[in-house]
Amino acid sequence: MEVGPSPTILMEVYVDRIFCNGCGTCIDLCSMGVFQMVNHKAEPLRPHLCVACFKCREFCPTQAITPRWIMRVS
Ligand code: SF4
Ligand code: SF4
Repeated sequence: MEVGPSPTILMEVYVDRIFCNGCGTCIDLCSMGVFQMVNHKAEPLRPHLCVACFKCREFCPTQAITPRWIMRVS
């Protein structure tokens, strides 16, 4: 029997550095510790920990954050 490619669903978190004002709200809100401040901008350094609660997207004052599902086939 031939085994086909298996899809994996995972989260990707994107921060637009132009819109980020460095307020730190996402760092305080994200209970999974996805974000870290780097040079006064939020960086999603641990996107693999994201549990898709979308609180960061909801409360970012500049709407700089886009968490989204992506599918990888391997
Ligand atoms: S909440 Fe938005 S503006 Fe504030 S640090 Fe995070 S990404 Fe930047
Ligand atoms: S969606 Fe939730 S878990 Fe994912 S980065 Fe935003 S606040 Fe953190």
